[in-house]
Amino acid sequence: MTTKELDSKYVASTYARFPVCLVSGKGSLVYDEDGKEYIDLGTGIAVNTFGYCDDEWIGAVNAQLSKLQHTSNLYYSQPCANLAALLCERTGMSKVFFSNSGAEANECAIKTARKYGELNKGAGYATIVTLKDSFHGRTITTLAATGQDVFHKDFLPLTEGFVHAAANDLEDVRRLVAQNKCCALMFEVVQGEGGVLPLSKDFLEGLSTIAKENDLLLIADEVQCGNGRSGELYAYMNFGIKPDIVSTAKGLAGGLPMGATLLGERVKDILGAGMHGSTFGGNPICTAAAINVISRIDDALLEGVKQRSKFIFDELNGAEGVKSVSGLGLMIGIETELPASEVIEKCRENGVLVIKAKQKVRLLPALNIEWELLEKAVKIIKEACAK
Ligand SMILES: *Cc1c(COP(=O)(O)O)cnc(C)c1O
Repeated sequence: MTTKELDSKYVASTYARFPVCLVSGKGSLVYDEDGKEYIDLGTGIAVNTFGYCDDEWIGAVNAQLSKLQHTSNLYYSQPCANLAALLCERTGMSKVFFSNSGAEANECAIKTARKYGELNKGAGYATIVTLKDSFHGRTITTLAATGQDVFHKDFLPLTEGFVHAAANDLEDVRRLVAQNKCCALMFEVVQGEGGVLPLSKDFLEGLSTIAKENDLLLIADEVQCGNGRSGELYAYMNFGIKPDIVSTAKGLAGGLPMGATLLGERVKDILGAGMHGSTFGGNPICTAAAINVISRIDDALLEGVKQRSKFIFDELNGAEGVKSVSGLGLMIGIETELPASEVIEKCRENGVLVIKAKQKVRLLPALNIEWELLEKAVKIIKEACAK
């Protein structure tokens, strides 16, 4: 049987796959079973921060792999402690809980917020305001947090205690805060799955004010927009706000499964011994990989992200067949005159991999994509957008 036949027969039917089987890659180039070469602007959905099989990243992973692949959280481990210290140094947050995915990073944020509400505001202060068109994960609780009915409908009842405000509408947030016993406001600084839409600076500052006035925690879900993708280490840093909790995952370990929940001073010890945990969380291989990724996201790299972003925006804004371009840094959505899936298919035929977000073409290139490859890929995208 071919890979496609085996997959269709034996892998659960939850994914609508593109008709491509990827087998190897280097940097921003990836090859399929037939040896066809693609420039990849999807990076495994913002995961491969430095592209495929980056040499330095492989070195860091290999060095740890031959030392110790796993130890339980019953023991101390160097890479885990070192990564937590590095993340706190770089963000000003106080402590970190490690997990294995974005959904889990958000689960920890939600548990922390509920416990904070109970301790500081009283029994029942458990409701979290999230935004319409948000995406926070696939577990029953993070689905409840996700403000999109399409993801809810087959799985009711979901976890109680989530209400959804319209994005960029402070009045709606204020209304929901007044109507519910709330403990937190949770948002993606750039909504990814919802269509690559950055929240406005006014809205983010307003959320910050509402949180202060009502003793609510500010939770930034930076699972997709974090780890350098926005042009700053974390996307909230573009807007001068200071969340109490930052959840992240996708690009954190550059291709290994890893989630992290960064806890600010007010909440650093809300969850005590035995109240939360994860068998694999803080795994030595994943944390060694993440140390490599985070320590390479320096000013020079971020400047490169901003320059590449500007180039893509400049090229696509006003191009034939392009209705609008949205996003921040190297997280970009293109509204096209042709259906997005048609543009994506044309790109693929011409050797460029891009993905979709709602009805947009989404670009999530490696943060260090070579200029030559980026220029070539953008040219192919422009041709695919023009009818
Ligand atoms: C992908 C994503 C998640 C879920 O992450 P998983 O690792 O798939 O659990 C949560 N929040 C945002 C903003 C995401 O983009």
